[in-house]
Amino acid sequence: MVRRNIEKPRILLISPSQDERKFQPPGLLHLAAAIKGKAEVKILPSDASAMRVRNEAASFKPHIIGVSMHFGNEANAIGYANEAKKACMDAHVVFGGPCILVPEINERILRHSSGTATIEGEADYTFKELVEIIGTTPAGKLTDEQAKKLEEKRGTSLLHLGKFHPAKLPGDRLEEKQMNTLKLNYGLLERDNAEWMTVSTSRGCPNACIFCTKPHGNKWRAKSPRTIIQELKEIALKHPEKKVVTFADDTFALSRKRLEELVGLIRKNRLHQRFSFTMQATIPSMLTVGKVGERTPDLKLLKKLKEANWTRIEFGLENFVEKERENLGKPPHTTEEAIDLLRGTARNGMDAGAFIILGGDDTHTEDIMENGYWAAKLHKESEGRIQFSANRTL
Ligand code: SF4
Repeated sequence: MVRRNIEKPRILLISPSQDERKFQPPGLLHLAAAIKGKAEVKILPSDASAMRVRNEAASFKPHIIGVSMHFGNEANAIGYANEAKKACMDAHVVFGGPCILVPEINERILRHSSGTATIEGEADYTFKELVEIIGTTPAGKLTDEQAKKLEEKRGTSLLHLGKFHPAKLPGDRLEEKQMNTLKLNYGLLERDNAEWMTVSTSRGCPNACIFCTKPHGNKWRAKSPRTIIQELKEIALKHPEKKVVTFADDTFALSRKRLEELVGLIRKNRLHQRFSFTMQATIPSMLTVGKVGERTPDLKLLKKLKEANWTRIEFGLENFVEKERENLGKPPHTTEEAIDLLRGTARNGMDAGAFIILGGDDTHTEDIMENGYWAAKLHKESEGRIQFSANRTL
Protein backbone atom coordinates (compact mmCIF):
# COMPACT_ATOMS: atom_id res chain seq x y z
CA MET A 1 0.00 0.00 0.00
CA VAL A 2 1.36 3.40 -0.91
CA ARG A 3 0.96 5.90 1.91
CA ARG A 4 -0.05 9.37 0.87
CA ASN A 5 1.84 12.21 2.45
CA ILE A 6 -0.72 14.27 4.33
CA GLU A 7 0.21 17.92 4.16
CA LYS A 8 0.41 19.61 7.53
CA PRO A 9 -0.85 23.18 7.77
CA ARG A 10 1.96 25.71 7.61
CA ILE A 11 1.68 28.56 10.10
CA LEU A 12 3.56 31.83 9.84
CA LEU A 13 3.59 33.82 13.10
CA ILE A 14 4.47 37.48 13.31
CA SER A 15 4.58 39.98 16.18
CA PRO A 16 5.87 43.17 14.60
CA SER A 17 7.48 45.83 16.79
CA GLN A 18 6.16 49.36 16.68
CA ASP A 19 9.63 50.83 16.23
CA GLU A 20 13.19 49.80 15.50
CA ARG A 21 13.48 47.81 18.73
CA LYS A 22 13.70 44.07 18.43
CA PHE A 23 12.01 41.80 20.89
CA GLN A 24 11.38 38.11 21.00
CA PRO A 25 7.68 37.40 21.50
CA PRO A 26 7.15 34.69 24.15
CA GLY A 27 3.42 34.57 23.33
CA LEU A 28 4.14 33.22 19.85
CA LEU A 29 6.28 30.46 21.35
CA HIS A 30 3.29 29.38 23.46
CA LEU A 31 1.08 29.27 20.33
CA ALA A 32 3.72 27.22 18.53
CA ALA A 33 3.99 24.83 21.49
CA ALA A 34 0.20 24.33 21.59
CA ILE A 35 0.14 23.20 17.91
CA LYS A 36 3.35 21.18 18.08
CA GLY A 37 3.17 18.12 15.85
CA LYS A 38 -0.01 19.37 14.15
CA ALA A 39 1.54 22.05 11.98
CA GLU A 40 4.78 23.38 10.63
CA VAL A 41 5.56 26.71 12.30
CA LYS A 42 7.78 29.59 11.34
CA ILE A 43 8.19 32.69 13.52
CA LEU A 44 9.44 35.89 11.89
CA PRO A 45 11.55 38.37 13.86
CA SER A 46 9.74 41.42 15.15
CA ASP A 47 11.79 43.80 13.00
CA ALA A 48 11.53 41.93 9.69
CA SER A 49 11.23 44.33 6.75
CA ALA A 50 8.10 44.38 4.58
CA MET A 51 10.12 42.80 1.78
CA ARG A 52 11.31 40.01 4.08
CA VAL A 53 7.75 39.32 5.22
CA ARG A 54 6.59 39.08 1.61
CA ASN A 55 9.50 36.88 0.56
CA GLU A 56 9.11 34.55 3.53
CA ALA A 57 5.38 34.22 2.87
CA ALA A 58 6.06 33.52 -0.82
CA SER A 59 8.53 30.74 -0.08
CA PHE A 60 6.90 29.23 3.04
CA LYS A 61 3.37 29.41 1.57
CA PRO A 62 1.54 29.51 4.91
CA HIS A 63 -2.04 28.32 5.24
CA ILE A 64 -2.51 30.55 8.27
CA ILE A 65 -0.76 33.81 9.16
CA GLY A 66 -1.03 34.64 12.89
CA VAL A 67 -0.42 38.29 13.71
CA SER A 68 -0.02 39.60 17.25
CA MET A 69 -1.23 43.15 17.90
CA HIS A 70 0.00 45.05 20.90
CA PHE A 71 -0.31 48.69 21.77
CA GLY A 72 1.49 50.92 19.32
CA ASN A 73 2.02 48.37 16.54
CA GLU A 74 -1.49 48.37 15.12
CA ALA A 75 -0.50 49.92 11.78
CA ASN A 76 2.58 47.71 11.48
CA ALA A 77 0.62 44.57 12.33
CA ILE A 78 -1.97 45.23 9.63
CA GLY A 79 0.81 46.22 7.21
CA TYR A 80 2.69 42.96 7.87
CA ALA A 81 -0.48 40.93 7.47
CA ASN A 82 -1.19 42.64 4.13
CA GLU A 83 2.36 42.04 2.91
CA ALA A 84 2.18 38.35 3.79
CA LYS A 85 -1.26 38.04 2.26
CA LYS A 86 -0.11 39.68 -1.00
CA ALA A 87 2.40 36.88 -1.43
CA CYS A 88 -0.02 34.18 -0.34
CA MET A 89 -3.59 35.10 -1.22
CA ASP A 90 -5.07 31.79 -0.02
CA ALA A 91 -3.76 32.19 3.52
CA HIS A 92 -6.09 32.88 6.42
CA VAL A 93 -5.03 35.82 8.58
CA VAL A 94 -5.78 35.54 12.31
CA PHE A 95 -5.21 38.49 14.66
CA GLY A 96 -4.57 38.16 18.39
CA GLY A 97 -2.70 39.99 21.15
CA PRO A 98 -3.58 42.50 23.90
CA CYS A 99 -4.91 45.12 21.45
CA ILE A 100 -7.72 42.86 20.33
CA LEU A 101 -9.34 43.31 23.76
CA VAL A 102 -10.00 46.97 22.92
CA PRO A 103 -13.46 46.79 21.28
CA GLU A 104 -12.82 49.67 18.85
CA ILE A 105 -9.62 48.08 17.56
CA ASN A 106 -11.23 44.66 17.31
CA GLU A 107 -14.18 46.11 15.39
CA ARG A 108 -11.85 48.05 13.10
CA ILE A 109 -9.99 44.89 12.20
CA LEU A 110 -13.17 42.91 11.72
CA ARG A 111 -14.51 45.58 9.38
CA HIS A 112 -11.42 46.52 7.43
CA SER A 113 -9.07 43.58 7.25
CA SER A 114 -9.11 40.55 5.04
CA GLY A 115 -8.62 38.37 8.11
CA THR A 116 -10.47 35.17 8.92
CA ALA A 117 -10.64 35.76 12.67
CA THR A 118 -9.63 37.81 15.66
CA ILE A 119 -9.06 36.00 18.96
CA GLU A 120 -9.71 37.93 22.15
CA GLY A 121 -7.57 37.22 25.21
CA GLU A 122 -5.32 34.22 25.49
CA ALA A 123 -5.27 32.40 22.21
CA ASP A 124 -3.18 29.28 22.67
CA TYR A 125 -5.85 26.60 22.60
CA THR A 126 -8.34 28.62 20.55
CA PHE A 127 -5.65 29.00 17.92
CA LYS A 128 -4.97 25.26 18.08
CA GLU A 129 -8.67 24.52 17.52
CA LEU A 130 -8.70 26.95 14.62
CA VAL A 131 -5.68 25.28 13.04
CA GLU A 132 -7.28 21.85 13.50
CA ILE A 133 -10.55 22.99 11.91
CA ILE A 134 -9.18 25.15 9.10
CA GLY A 135 -6.25 22.86 8.33
CA THR A 136 -5.02 23.51 4.81
CA THR A 137 -8.33 24.84 3.46
CA PRO A 138 -7.75 28.11 1.56
CA ALA A 139 -9.23 31.36 2.87
CA GLY A 140 -12.79 31.93 1.71
CA LYS A 141 -13.32 28.22 0.97
CA LEU A 142 -14.23 26.87 4.38
CA THR A 143 -16.97 24.26 4.15
CA ASP A 144 -20.21 24.48 6.08
CA GLU A 145 -18.98 21.57 8.19
CA GLN A 146 -15.82 23.46 9.16
CA ALA A 147 -17.93 26.52 9.87
CA LYS A 148 -20.22 24.51 12.09
CA LYS A 149 -17.31 23.08 14.03
CA LEU A 150 -15.95 26.57 14.57
CA GLU A 151 -19.37 27.64 15.75
CA GLU A 152 -19.72 24.70 18.12
CA LYS A 153 -16.25 25.15 19.58
CA ARG A 154 -16.24 28.89 19.92
CA GLY A 155 -19.82 30.02 19.57
CA THR A 156 -19.17 32.22 16.57
CA SER A 157 -21.97 33.03 14.12
CA LEU A 158 -22.35 31.03 10.93
CA LEU A 159 -22.08 34.24 8.96
CA HIS A 160 -18.66 34.84 10.41
CA LEU A 161 -16.68 32.17 8.73
CA GLY A 162 -14.03 33.97 6.83
CA LYS A 163 -16.52 33.75 3.94
CA PHE A 164 -18.17 37.07 4.62
CA HIS A 165 -16.65 38.70 7.69
CA PRO A 166 -13.84 37.65 9.95
CA ALA A 167 -15.03 35.80 13.03
CA LYS A 168 -14.56 37.22 16.52
CA LEU A 169 -13.47 34.34 18.71
CA PRO A 170 -13.38 34.36 22.50
CA GLY A 171 -9.98 33.17 23.72
CA ASP A 172 -9.20 30.43 26.18
CA ARG A 173 -7.17 30.41 29.41
CA LEU A 174 -4.02 28.40 29.93
CA GLU A 175 -4.27 26.65 33.27
CA GLU A 176 -1.27 26.15 35.50
CA LYS A 177 -0.88 22.50 34.51
CA GLN A 178 -0.81 23.43 30.81
CA MET A 179 1.69 26.22 31.49
CA ASN A 180 4.02 23.64 32.99
CA THR A 181 3.56 21.00 30.32
CA LEU A 182 3.78 23.13 27.16
CA LYS A 183 7.39 22.81 26.04
CA LEU A 184 8.53 26.02 24.41
CA ASN A 185 10.96 25.64 21.52
CA TYR A 186 13.23 28.69 21.74
CA GLY A 187 15.01 27.34 18.66
CA LEU A 188 12.04 28.68 16.64
CA LEU A 189 13.24 32.22 17.39
CA GLU A 190 15.95 33.45 15.06
CA ARG A 191 19.30 34.28 16.52
CA ASP A 192 19.95 37.99 16.33
CA ASN A 193 22.38 40.55 17.65
CA ALA A 194 20.22 41.64 20.62
CA GLU A 195 21.58 40.48 23.98
CA TRP A 196 18.29 40.18 25.78
CA MET A 197 15.46 37.69 25.67
CA THR A 198 11.96 38.27 26.99
CA VAL A 199 10.56 35.40 29.02
CA SER A 200 7.00 34.98 30.24
CA THR A 201 6.53 32.82 33.35
CA SER A 202 3.00 33.59 34.50
CA ARG A 203 -0.26 35.09 33.34
CA GLY A 204 -2.99 37.07 35.03
CA CYS A 205 -3.10 39.57 37.85
CA PRO A 206 -5.48 39.95 40.81
CA ASN A 207 -4.84 43.72 41.05
CA ALA A 208 -7.19 46.23 39.50
CA CYS A 209 -5.21 49.16 38.03
CA ILE A 210 -7.73 51.07 35.95
CA PHE A 211 -5.37 51.78 33.03
CA CYS A 212 -4.51 48.10 32.48
CA THR A 213 -6.32 45.99 29.86
CA LYS A 214 -5.33 42.85 31.78
CA PRO A 215 -5.18 40.65 28.70
CA HIS A 216 -4.74 37.57 30.89
CA GLY A 217 -7.55 38.24 33.37
CA ASN A 218 -7.58 38.21 37.19
CA LYS A 219 -6.49 34.68 37.93
CA TRP A 220 -2.76 34.30 38.38
CA ARG A 221 -1.36 31.13 36.83
CA ALA A 222 2.36 30.53 37.05
CA LYS A 223 5.05 28.23 35.77
CA SER A 224 6.95 26.43 38.48
CA PRO A 225 10.56 27.43 39.19
CA ARG A 226 11.65 24.07 37.71
CA THR A 227 9.86 24.76 34.42
CA ILE A 228 11.45 28.22 34.27
CA ILE A 229 14.90 26.74 34.87
CA GLN A 230 14.35 24.30 31.97
CA GLU A 231 13.45 27.24 29.73
CA LEU A 232 16.51 29.21 30.81
CA LYS A 233 18.70 26.20 30.00
CA GLU A 234 17.05 25.92 26.61
CA ILE A 235 17.71 29.61 25.90
CA ALA A 236 21.34 29.20 26.99
CA LEU A 237 21.68 26.29 24.55
CA LYS A 238 19.80 27.67 21.55
CA HIS A 239 20.75 31.33 21.90
CA PRO A 240 24.39 31.81 22.82
CA GLU A 241 23.99 35.50 21.94
CA LYS A 242 21.52 36.13 24.80
CA LYS A 243 22.98 37.51 28.00
CA VAL A 244 20.05 39.25 29.68
CA VAL A 245 16.71 37.64 30.56
CA THR A 246 13.80 40.02 31.05
CA PHE A 247 10.87 38.56 32.92
CA ALA A 248 7.91 40.31 31.35
CA ASP A 249 4.88 38.87 33.15
CA ASP A 250 1.83 40.81 34.27
CA THR A 251 2.89 40.24 37.90
CA PHE A 252 6.10 38.23 37.95
CA ALA A 253 6.83 38.73 41.66
CA LEU A 254 3.32 38.04 42.98
CA SER A 255 4.42 34.92 44.87
CA ARG A 256 7.46 35.58 47.04
CA LYS A 257 7.81 31.85 47.66
CA ARG A 258 8.08 31.15 43.93
CA LEU A 259 10.50 34.02 43.42
CA GLU A 260 12.79 32.88 46.24
CA GLU A 261 12.74 29.29 45.03
CA LEU A 262 13.54 30.42 41.48
CA VAL A 263 16.41 32.62 42.65
CA GLY A 264 17.83 29.65 44.62
CA LEU A 265 17.58 27.34 41.61
CA ILE A 266 19.18 29.91 39.31
CA ARG A 267 22.20 29.99 41.61
CA LYS A 268 22.26 26.23 42.08
CA ASN A 269 22.30 25.75 38.29
CA ARG A 270 24.87 28.56 37.91
CA LEU A 271 22.55 30.34 35.48
CA HIS A 272 23.43 33.63 37.20
CA GLN A 273 26.88 33.21 35.66
CA ARG A 274 25.32 32.85 32.22
CA PHE A 275 22.58 35.52 32.39
CA SER A 276 21.74 38.71 34.18
CA PHE A 277 18.04 39.27 34.97
CA THR A 278 15.53 42.09 35.03
CA MET A 279 11.90 42.02 36.14
CA GLN A 280 8.84 44.13 36.79
CA ALA A 281 7.34 44.22 40.28
CA THR A 282 4.68 46.06 42.22
CA ILE A 283 5.94 48.13 45.17
CA PRO A 284 4.23 45.97 47.87
CA SER A 285 5.73 42.76 46.44
CA MET A 286 9.23 43.93 47.42
CA LEU A 287 8.35 45.24 50.91
CA THR A 288 8.38 43.28 54.16
CA VAL A 289 5.02 41.79 55.14
CA GLY A 290 2.99 44.04 57.45
CA LYS A 291 0.55 46.91 57.64
CA VAL A 292 0.57 49.67 55.03
CA GLY A 293 2.87 52.43 56.27
CA GLU A 294 4.85 50.14 58.57
CA ARG A 295 6.70 48.14 55.92
CA THR A 296 10.30 48.51 54.85
CA PRO A 297 12.18 47.29 51.75
CA ASP A 298 12.69 43.52 51.97
CA LEU A 299 16.46 43.75 52.12
CA LYS A 300 16.94 39.99 52.42
CA LEU A 301 15.05 39.46 49.19
CA LEU A 302 16.83 42.32 47.43
CA LYS A 303 20.18 40.83 48.50
CA LYS A 304 19.20 37.40 47.16
CA LEU A 305 18.15 38.95 43.86
CA LYS A 306 21.44 40.81 43.60
CA GLU A 307 23.39 37.62 44.32
CA ALA A 308 21.47 35.85 41.54
CA ASN A 309 22.58 38.60 39.13
CA TRP A 310 19.39 40.67 39.03
CA THR A 311 20.51 44.00 37.62
CA ARG A 312 17.26 45.93 37.33
CA ILE A 313 13.76 46.05 38.78
CA GLU A 314 11.01 48.05 37.08
CA PHE A 315 8.44 49.14 39.65
CA GLY A 316 4.81 49.87 38.84
CA LEU A 317 4.77 52.99 41.02
CA GLU A 318 2.71 55.18 38.64
CA ASN A 319 2.66 58.22 40.92
CA PHE A 320 4.30 59.74 44.01
CA VAL A 321 0.97 61.25 45.09
CA GLU A 322 -1.11 58.86 47.18
CA LYS A 323 -4.48 60.19 45.98
CA GLU A 324 -3.39 59.71 42.35
CA ARG A 325 -2.35 56.13 43.04
CA GLU A 326 -5.71 55.47 44.67
CA ASN A 327 -7.47 56.93 41.62
CA LEU A 328 -5.45 54.60 39.44
CA GLY A 329 -6.45 51.60 41.58
CA LYS A 330 -2.87 50.69 42.54
CA PRO A 331 -2.26 48.14 45.33
CA PRO A 332 -1.91 50.28 48.49
CA HIS A 333 1.40 51.57 49.85
CA THR A 334 2.64 54.89 51.14
CA THR A 335 4.88 57.23 49.19
CA GLU A 336 7.57 56.81 51.88
CA GLU A 337 7.51 53.04 51.42
CA ALA A 338 7.99 53.49 47.67
CA ILE A 339 10.84 55.99 48.09
CA ASP A 340 12.60 53.73 50.62
CA LEU A 341 12.25 50.80 48.24
CA LEU A 342 13.65 52.69 45.25
CA ARG A 343 16.57 53.82 47.39
CA GLY A 344 17.05 50.35 48.91
CA THR A 345 17.17 48.77 45.44
CA ALA A 346 19.78 51.27 44.23
CA ARG A 347 21.87 50.88 47.41
CA ASN A 348 21.82 47.16 46.81
CA GLY A 349 23.60 47.72 43.50
CA MET A 350 20.62 47.27 41.18
CA ASP A 351 19.00 49.77 38.85
CA ALA A 352 15.45 50.76 39.76
CA GLY A 353 13.01 51.97 37.16
CA ALA A 354 9.55 53.38 37.82
CA PHE A 355 6.67 54.21 35.55
CA ILE A 356 4.90 57.47 36.25
CA ILE A 357 1.44 58.24 34.90
CA LEU A 358 0.66 61.94 34.81
CA GLY A 359 -2.32 63.91 33.66
CA GLY A 360 -5.44 62.12 34.96
CA ASP A 361 -8.70 64.09 35.14
CA ASP A 362 -8.08 65.26 38.73
CA THR A 363 -4.37 65.93 38.42
CA HIS A 364 -3.30 69.32 39.78
CA THR A 365 -0.16 71.18 38.79
CA GLU A 366 1.19 70.58 42.33
CA ASP A 367 0.84 66.82 41.79
CA ILE A 368 2.90 67.02 38.62
CA MET A 369 5.47 69.19 40.45
CA GLU A 370 5.60 66.63 43.28
CA ASN A 371 6.39 63.85 40.83
CA GLY A 372 8.98 65.98 39.06
CA TYR A 373 10.60 66.82 42.41
CA TRP A 374 10.98 63.20 43.52
CA ALA A 375 11.98 61.91 40.10
CA ALA A 376 14.75 64.49 39.80
CA LYS A 377 15.89 64.10 43.41
CA LEU A 378 16.08 60.29 43.40
CA HIS A 379 17.69 60.20 39.96
CA LYS A 380 20.36 62.68 41.04
CA GLU A 381 21.16 61.25 44.47
CA SER A 382 21.43 57.70 43.05
CA GLU A 383 23.74 58.96 40.30
CA GLY A 384 21.30 57.83 37.65
CA ARG A 385 20.63 54.39 39.14
CA ILE A 386 16.96 55.28 39.74
CA GLN A 387 15.21 56.16 36.50
CA PHE A 388 11.71 57.19 35.56
CA SER A 389 9.62 56.97 32.45
CA ALA A 390 6.49 59.06 32.17
CA ASN A 391 3.53 58.90 29.84
CA ARG A 392 3.85 62.67 29.55
CA THR A 393 7.23 64.36 29.42
CA LEU A 394 8.27 65.54 32.88
S1 SF4 B 1 -0.38 45.25 38.76
FE1 SF4 B 1 0.28 45.41 36.60
S2 SF4 B 1 -0.77 43.74 35.52
FE2 SF4 B 1 -1.77 43.99 37.51
S3 SF4 B 1 -3.53 45.33 37.09
FE3 SF4 B 1 -1.83 46.63 37.77
S4 SF4 B 1 -0.75 47.25 35.86
FE4 SF4 B 1 -2.10 45.52 35.35
